[in-house]
Amino acid sequence: MTSYKLLWDDPVCDIEVPERLLSSYEQLEYYHLVGRCVHVPIREGSEEEIMLVHSSEYLEVVKSTQTMNQEELRRVSKNYDAVYFHPNSYRCAKLAVGATLQLVDSVMSGKVLNGMALVRPPGHHSQRNAANGFCVFNNVAIAAQYAKRRYGLQRILIVDWDVHHGQGIQYIFEEDPSVLYYSWHRYEHQKFWPLLRESDYDAVGQGNGKGFNINVPWNKVGMGNSDYLAAFFHVLLPVAFEFAPELILVSSGYDSGIGDPEGEMKATPECFAHLTHFLMQLANGRLCAVLEGGYHLKSLSESVSMTVKTLLGDPLPRISGEMAPCLSNECSQHLVMNLDCNISGAATLSLLTVCSTSSTIRP
Ligand SMILES: [Zn+2]
Repeated sequence: MTSYKLLWDDPVCDIEVPERLLSSYEQLEYYHLVGRCVHVPIREGSEEEIMLVHSSEYLEVVKSTQTMNQEELRRVSKNYDAVYFHPNSYRCAKLAVGATLQLVDSVMSGKVLNGMALVRPPGHHSQRNAANGFCVFNNVAIAAQYAKRRYGLQRILIVDWDVHHGQGIQYIFEEDPSVLYYSWHRYEHQKFWPLLRESDYDAVGQGNGKGFNINVPWNKVGMGNSDYLAAFFHVLLPVAFEFAPELILVSSGYDSGIGDPEGEMKATPECFAHLTHFLMQLANGRLCAVLEGGYHLKSLSESVSMTVKTLLGDPLPRISGEMAPCLSNECSQHLVMNLDCNISGAATLSLLTVCSTSSTIRP
Protein backbone atom coordinates (compact mmCIF):
# COMPACT_ATOMS: atom_id res chain seq x y z
CA MET A 1 0.00 0.00 0.00
CA THR A 2 3.04 2.24 -0.31
CA SER A 3 3.27 1.59 -4.03
CA TYR A 4 1.15 4.45 -5.31
CA LYS A 5 1.70 8.20 -5.22
CA LEU A 6 0.73 11.44 -6.88
CA LEU A 7 2.28 11.64 -10.35
CA TRP A 8 1.62 15.31 -11.13
CA ASP A 9 1.48 18.66 -9.34
CA ASP A 10 -1.59 19.11 -7.22
CA PRO A 11 -1.35 21.15 -4.02
CA VAL A 12 -4.57 19.61 -2.69
CA CYS A 13 -3.38 16.01 -2.97
CA ASP A 14 0.37 16.21 -2.42
CA ILE A 15 0.15 15.55 1.33
CA GLU A 16 -1.15 12.01 0.85
CA VAL A 17 2.19 10.23 0.51
CA PRO A 18 3.50 6.66 0.97
CA GLU A 19 5.75 7.91 3.79
CA ARG A 20 2.63 8.16 5.95
CA LEU A 21 2.63 4.39 6.28
CA LEU A 22 6.40 3.99 6.34
CA SER A 23 6.97 6.52 9.13
CA SER A 24 4.11 5.07 11.19
CA TYR A 25 5.59 1.59 10.92
CA GLU A 26 9.10 2.85 11.70
CA GLN A 27 7.86 4.57 14.82
CA LEU A 28 6.09 1.38 15.94
CA GLU A 29 9.40 -0.42 15.51
CA TYR A 30 11.25 2.33 17.38
CA TYR A 31 9.00 1.76 20.40
CA HIS A 32 9.39 -2.04 20.05
CA LEU A 33 5.66 -2.36 19.48
CA VAL A 34 5.85 -4.30 16.21
CA GLY A 35 7.30 -7.37 17.91
CA ARG A 36 4.54 -7.34 20.51
CA CYS A 37 1.79 -7.46 17.89
CA VAL A 38 0.30 -10.49 16.16
CA HIS A 39 0.82 -10.03 12.43
CA VAL A 40 -2.30 -10.78 10.47
CA PRO A 41 -1.64 -11.77 6.83
CA ILE A 42 -3.01 -9.36 4.28
CA ARG A 43 -5.25 -10.21 1.33
CA GLU A 44 -7.10 -8.31 -1.36
CA GLY A 45 -10.73 -7.47 -0.75
CA SER A 46 -12.94 -9.28 -3.28
CA GLU A 47 -15.22 -7.53 -5.76
CA GLU A 48 -18.17 -8.92 -3.87
CA GLU A 49 -16.90 -7.37 -0.65
CA ILE A 50 -16.27 -4.01 -2.30
CA MET A 51 -19.81 -4.10 -3.66
CA LEU A 52 -21.21 -4.40 -0.13
CA VAL A 53 -20.88 -0.61 -0.25
CA HIS A 54 -19.98 0.47 -3.79
CA SER A 55 -21.77 0.15 -7.13
CA SER A 56 -20.45 -2.19 -9.81
CA GLU A 57 -20.18 0.82 -12.17
CA TYR A 58 -17.86 2.62 -9.77
CA LEU A 59 -15.82 -0.55 -9.21
CA GLU A 60 -15.33 -0.80 -12.97
CA VAL A 61 -14.13 2.81 -13.15
CA VAL A 62 -11.52 2.21 -10.45
CA LYS A 63 -10.49 -1.05 -12.08
CA SER A 64 -9.99 0.70 -15.42
CA THR A 65 -7.37 3.06 -13.93
CA GLN A 66 -4.86 0.20 -13.73
CA THR A 67 -3.94 0.50 -17.41
CA MET A 68 -4.30 4.26 -17.83
CA ASN A 69 -1.51 6.63 -18.80
CA GLN A 70 -0.87 9.78 -16.80
CA GLU A 71 -3.13 11.97 -18.87
CA GLU A 72 -6.02 9.53 -18.54
CA LEU A 73 -5.40 9.21 -14.81
CA ARG A 74 -5.56 12.97 -14.42
CA ARG A 75 -8.79 13.09 -16.34
CA VAL A 76 -10.52 10.42 -14.25
CA SER A 77 -9.19 11.97 -11.03
CA LYS A 78 -10.78 15.29 -12.00
CA ASN A 79 -14.21 13.64 -12.01
CA TYR A 80 -13.95 13.47 -8.24
CA ASP A 81 -13.20 15.91 -5.42
CA ALA A 82 -9.65 15.88 -3.98
CA VAL A 83 -8.55 12.48 -5.32
CA TYR A 84 -5.72 11.23 -7.49
CA PHE A 85 -5.33 7.87 -9.20
CA HIS A 86 -2.15 5.94 -9.97
CA PRO A 87 -1.90 2.63 -11.89
CA ASN A 88 -1.42 0.87 -8.52
CA SER A 89 -4.34 2.60 -6.80
CA TYR A 90 -6.80 -0.19 -7.52
CA ARG A 91 -4.60 -2.93 -6.13
CA CYS A 92 -3.67 -0.88 -3.05
CA ALA A 93 -7.33 0.00 -2.44
CA LYS A 94 -8.23 -3.71 -2.62
CA LEU A 95 -5.44 -4.46 -0.13
CA ALA A 96 -6.73 -1.73 2.20
CA VAL A 97 -10.17 -3.34 2.14
CA GLY A 98 -8.75 -6.84 2.57
CA ALA A 99 -6.47 -5.82 5.44
CA THR A 100 -9.40 -4.23 7.25
CA LEU A 101 -11.53 -7.35 6.79
CA GLN A 102 -8.68 -9.60 7.95
CA LEU A 103 -8.54 -7.54 11.12
CA VAL A 104 -12.30 -7.83 11.61
CA ASP A 105 -12.07 -11.62 11.13
CA SER A 106 -9.17 -11.87 13.58
CA VAL A 107 -11.04 -9.90 16.22
CA MET A 108 -14.39 -11.62 15.69
CA SER A 109 -12.82 -15.09 15.79
CA GLY A 110 -10.96 -14.25 18.99
CA LYS A 111 -7.55 -14.69 17.41
CA VAL A 112 -6.73 -11.22 18.66
CA LEU A 113 -8.55 -8.97 21.09
CA ASN A 114 -8.19 -5.80 19.05
CA GLY A 115 -5.92 -4.35 16.41
CA MET A 116 -4.97 -1.65 14.02
CA ALA A 117 -4.96 -1.82 10.23
CA LEU A 118 -2.31 0.48 8.80
CA VAL A 119 -3.80 1.01 5.38
CA ARG A 120 -3.65 3.32 2.42
CA PRO A 121 -5.67 4.65 0.62
CA PRO A 122 -8.00 5.79 3.41
CA GLY A 123 -11.73 5.25 3.08
CA HIS A 124 -14.17 7.36 5.06
CA HIS A 125 -14.94 9.95 2.35
CA SER A 126 -15.60 7.49 -0.46
CA GLN A 127 -19.17 6.89 -1.50
CA ARG A 128 -21.27 4.37 -3.34
CA ASN A 129 -20.46 5.90 -6.71
CA ALA A 130 -17.51 8.14 -6.01
CA ALA A 131 -13.96 8.45 -4.84
CA ASN A 132 -13.49 11.47 -2.61
CA GLY A 133 -10.85 13.08 -0.40
CA PHE A 134 -7.95 10.65 -1.13
CA CYS A 135 -10.37 7.75 -0.48
CA VAL A 136 -11.10 5.05 -3.06
CA PHE A 137 -13.04 2.28 -1.28
CA ASN A 138 -14.71 2.88 2.07
CA ASN A 139 -12.71 0.40 4.16
CA VAL A 140 -14.57 0.96 7.43
CA ALA A 141 -18.04 1.01 5.89
CA ILE A 142 -17.28 -2.22 4.03
CA ALA A 143 -16.02 -3.71 7.30
CA ALA A 144 -19.27 -2.82 9.06
CA GLN A 145 -21.41 -4.38 6.32
CA TYR A 146 -19.15 -7.42 6.23
CA ALA A 147 -19.36 -7.88 10.02
CA LYS A 148 -23.14 -7.66 9.87
CA ARG A 149 -23.36 -10.24 7.10
CA ARG A 150 -20.69 -12.68 8.22
CA TYR A 151 -21.19 -12.55 11.98
CA GLY A 152 -24.81 -11.43 12.23
CA LEU A 153 -23.90 -8.37 14.28
CA GLN A 154 -26.75 -6.03 15.12
CA ARG A 155 -24.94 -3.13 16.73
CA ILE A 156 -21.70 -1.71 15.37
CA LEU A 157 -20.20 1.57 16.57
CA ILE A 158 -18.05 3.56 14.17
CA VAL A 159 -15.99 6.29 15.83
CA ASP A 160 -14.43 8.69 13.33
CA TRP A 161 -11.82 10.81 15.07
CA ASP A 162 -10.26 12.02 11.82
CA VAL A 163 -10.48 15.81 11.58
CA HIS A 164 -12.65 15.61 8.46
CA HIS A 165 -16.26 14.53 8.35
CA GLY A 166 -16.54 10.99 6.98
CA GLN A 167 -19.54 11.93 4.90
CA GLY A 168 -19.17 8.68 2.94
CA ILE A 169 -19.85 6.63 6.07
CA GLN A 170 -22.72 8.92 7.06
CA TYR A 171 -24.41 8.51 3.67
CA ILE A 172 -24.03 4.72 3.70
CA PHE A 173 -25.54 4.20 7.15
CA GLU A 174 -27.83 7.19 7.71
CA GLU A 175 -30.95 5.01 7.51
CA ASP A 176 -29.43 2.07 9.35
CA PRO A 177 -30.00 1.82 13.13
CA SER A 178 -27.57 -1.07 13.44
CA VAL A 179 -24.59 1.18 12.80
CA LEU A 180 -24.05 4.13 15.11
CA TYR A 181 -21.75 6.64 13.44
CA TYR A 182 -19.98 9.30 15.48
CA SER A 183 -17.76 11.92 13.88
CA TRP A 184 -16.14 15.07 15.11
CA HIS A 185 -14.72 17.31 12.47
CA ARG A 186 -13.39 20.73 11.65
CA TYR A 187 -16.41 22.53 10.26
CA GLU A 188 -16.14 26.31 10.78
CA HIS A 189 -19.76 26.88 9.92
CA GLN A 190 -19.46 24.95 6.66
CA LYS A 191 -16.35 26.84 5.53
CA PHE A 192 -14.07 23.80 5.83
CA TRP A 193 -13.87 20.90 3.36
CA PRO A 194 -15.99 18.97 2.46
CA LEU A 195 -18.16 22.09 2.91
CA LEU A 196 -21.36 20.15 3.47
CA ARG A 197 -24.51 21.25 5.23
CA GLU A 198 -25.03 17.64 6.30
CA SER A 199 -21.83 17.65 8.36
CA ASP A 200 -23.55 19.86 10.93
CA TYR A 201 -24.87 18.77 14.31
CA ASP A 202 -28.46 18.40 13.16
CA ALA A 203 -27.75 15.56 10.73
CA VAL A 204 -28.89 12.78 13.04
CA GLY A 205 -29.80 10.08 10.54
CA GLN A 206 -33.00 9.42 8.67
CA GLY A 207 -35.95 7.03 8.88
CA ASN A 208 -35.10 4.05 11.06
CA GLY A 209 -31.59 5.43 11.37
CA LYS A 210 -32.72 8.61 13.12
CA GLY A 211 -30.66 9.11 16.26
CA PHE A 212 -27.83 6.88 15.08
CA ASN A 213 -25.70 9.54 13.41
CA ILE A 214 -23.84 11.96 15.63
CA ASN A 215 -21.86 14.88 14.25
CA VAL A 216 -19.80 17.14 16.48
CA PRO A 217 -18.76 20.02 14.23
CA TRP A 218 -15.83 22.12 15.45
CA ASN A 219 -16.42 25.71 14.53
CA LYS A 220 -12.93 26.76 15.55
CA VAL A 221 -9.46 25.34 15.06
CA GLY A 222 -7.09 24.75 17.97
CA MET A 223 -9.16 22.10 19.77
CA GLY A 224 -6.99 20.30 22.28
CA ASN A 225 -6.91 17.31 24.59
CA SER A 226 -9.57 18.63 26.94
CA ASP A 227 -11.92 19.41 24.07
CA TYR A 228 -11.62 15.92 22.63
CA LEU A 229 -12.00 14.28 26.01
CA ALA A 230 -15.02 16.44 26.85
CA ALA A 231 -16.68 15.45 23.59
CA PHE A 232 -16.02 11.81 24.42
CA PHE A 233 -17.27 12.06 28.00
CA HIS A 234 -20.35 14.13 27.35
CA VAL A 235 -21.48 13.13 23.89
CA LEU A 236 -20.07 9.85 22.64
CA LEU A 237 -19.56 7.61 25.65
CA PRO A 238 -23.00 7.95 27.27
CA VAL A 239 -24.63 7.17 23.94
CA ALA A 240 -22.16 4.41 23.16
CA PHE A 241 -22.72 2.63 26.48
CA GLU A 242 -26.47 2.80 25.93
CA PHE A 243 -26.04 1.47 22.39
CA ALA A 244 -23.90 -1.42 23.70
CA PRO A 245 -22.01 -2.18 20.49
CA GLU A 246 -20.83 -5.68 19.64
CA LEU A 247 -17.90 -4.34 17.64
CA ILE A 248 -16.15 -0.98 17.41
CA LEU A 249 -14.57 0.28 14.23
CA VAL A 250 -12.44 3.40 14.52
CA SER A 251 -11.94 5.58 11.48
CA SER A 252 -8.59 6.38 12.89
CA GLY A 253 -7.39 9.58 11.26
CA TYR A 254 -4.69 11.59 12.96
CA ASP A 255 -5.06 14.86 11.10
CA SER A 256 -6.96 15.81 14.26
CA GLY A 257 -3.60 15.74 16.08
CA ILE A 258 -1.17 18.55 16.84
CA GLY A 259 0.89 19.94 13.97
CA ASP A 260 -1.29 18.60 11.20
CA PRO A 261 -1.64 21.09 8.33
CA GLU A 262 -5.21 19.96 7.57
CA GLY A 263 -6.68 19.98 11.04
CA GLU A 264 -4.81 22.81 12.79
CA MET A 265 -5.90 21.23 16.06
CA LYS A 266 -3.79 20.80 19.20
CA ALA A 267 -4.49 17.34 20.61
CA THR A 268 -1.25 15.60 21.54
CA PRO A 269 -0.46 11.96 20.69
CA GLU A 270 -1.18 11.00 24.31
CA CYS A 271 -4.79 12.05 23.79
CA PHE A 272 -5.28 9.21 21.32
CA ALA A 273 -4.12 6.75 23.97
CA HIS A 274 -6.90 7.98 26.24
CA LEU A 275 -9.53 7.94 23.50
CA THR A 276 -8.53 4.38 22.63
CA HIS A 277 -8.63 3.35 26.27
CA PHE A 278 -12.20 4.57 26.76
CA LEU A 279 -13.43 2.79 23.65
CA MET A 280 -11.80 -0.45 24.83
CA GLN A 281 -14.32 -0.57 27.68
CA LEU A 282 -17.07 -1.24 25.14
CA ALA A 283 -17.88 -4.31 23.00
CA ASN A 284 -15.80 -6.56 25.25
CA GLY A 285 -12.76 -4.76 23.92
CA ARG A 286 -13.42 -5.82 20.31
CA LEU A 287 -11.95 -2.78 18.60
CA CYS A 288 -10.55 -2.43 15.08
CA ALA A 289 -8.74 0.84 14.37
CA VAL A 290 -8.31 1.55 10.68
CA LEU A 291 -6.01 4.32 9.50
CA GLU A 292 -7.65 7.24 7.70
CA GLY A 293 -5.92 10.65 7.45
CA GLY A 294 -2.89 12.19 9.17
CA TYR A 295 -0.39 14.28 7.24
CA HIS A 296 2.19 15.53 9.72
CA LEU A 297 4.50 12.53 9.70
CA LYS A 298 5.88 12.98 13.22
CA SER A 299 2.52 13.69 14.80
CA LEU A 300 0.90 10.87 12.81
CA SER A 301 3.49 8.25 13.71
CA GLU A 302 3.53 9.20 17.40
CA SER A 303 -0.27 9.07 17.56
CA VAL A 304 -0.38 5.71 15.78
CA SER A 305 2.16 4.42 18.31
CA MET A 306 0.12 5.71 21.24
CA THR A 307 -2.97 3.98 19.87
CA VAL A 308 -1.19 0.64 19.39
CA LYS A 309 0.52 0.88 22.80
CA THR A 310 -2.86 1.31 24.43
CA LEU A 311 -4.41 -1.53 22.43
CA LEU A 312 -1.58 -3.70 23.77
CA GLY A 313 -2.66 -2.84 27.30
CA ASP A 314 0.16 -0.52 28.35
CA PRO A 315 -0.55 2.03 31.10
CA LEU A 316 -1.91 5.34 29.88
CA PRO A 317 0.55 8.22 29.48
CA ARG A 318 -0.08 11.42 31.38
CA ILE A 319 -2.02 13.98 29.46
CA SER A 320 -0.84 17.57 29.39
CA GLY A 321 -2.28 21.01 28.83
CA GLU A 322 -5.37 22.95 29.78
CA MET A 323 -7.97 20.61 31.24
CA ALA A 324 -11.09 22.70 30.65
CA PRO A 325 -12.79 22.56 27.28
CA CYS A 326 -13.10 25.82 25.35
CA LEU A 327 -16.34 27.72 24.93
CA SER A 328 -16.72 26.82 21.27
CA ASN A 329 -16.52 23.16 22.18
CA GLU A 330 -19.20 23.57 24.84
CA CYS A 331 -21.46 25.23 22.29
CA SER A 332 -20.98 22.41 19.79
CA GLN A 333 -21.84 19.86 22.43
CA HIS A 334 -24.88 21.78 23.63
CA LEU A 335 -26.23 21.86 20.11
CA VAL A 336 -25.61 18.17 19.57
CA MET A 337 -27.05 17.11 22.89
CA ASN A 338 -30.17 19.25 22.72
CA LEU A 339 -31.31 17.31 19.69
CA ASP A 340 -34.30 15.11 20.20
CA CYS A 341 -32.60 11.78 19.43
CA ASN A 342 -34.13 8.61 20.78
CA ILE A 343 -30.84 7.28 21.92
CA SER A 344 -29.21 10.28 23.48
CA GLY A 345 -31.38 10.85 26.53
CA ALA A 346 -28.73 9.78 28.98
CA ALA A 347 -26.12 11.86 27.26
CA THR A 348 -28.28 14.98 27.30
CA LEU A 349 -28.75 14.64 31.01
CA SER A 350 -25.06 14.12 31.56
CA LEU A 351 -24.04 17.14 29.53
CA LEU A 352 -26.56 19.49 31.11
CA THR A 353 -25.42 18.40 34.54
CA VAL A 354 -21.85 19.13 33.66
CA CYS A 355 -22.61 22.46 32.04
CA SER A 356 -24.65 23.70 34.95
CA THR A 357 -21.80 23.06 37.32
CA SER A 358 -18.96 24.05 35.03
CA SER A 359 -17.19 27.25 35.97
CA THR A 360 -13.90 26.90 34.15
CA ILE A 361 -14.66 27.36 30.50
CA ARG A 362 -11.92 28.75 28.31
CA PRO A 363 -12.89 31.47 25.85
ZN1 LIG B 1 -8.92 13.65 7.39
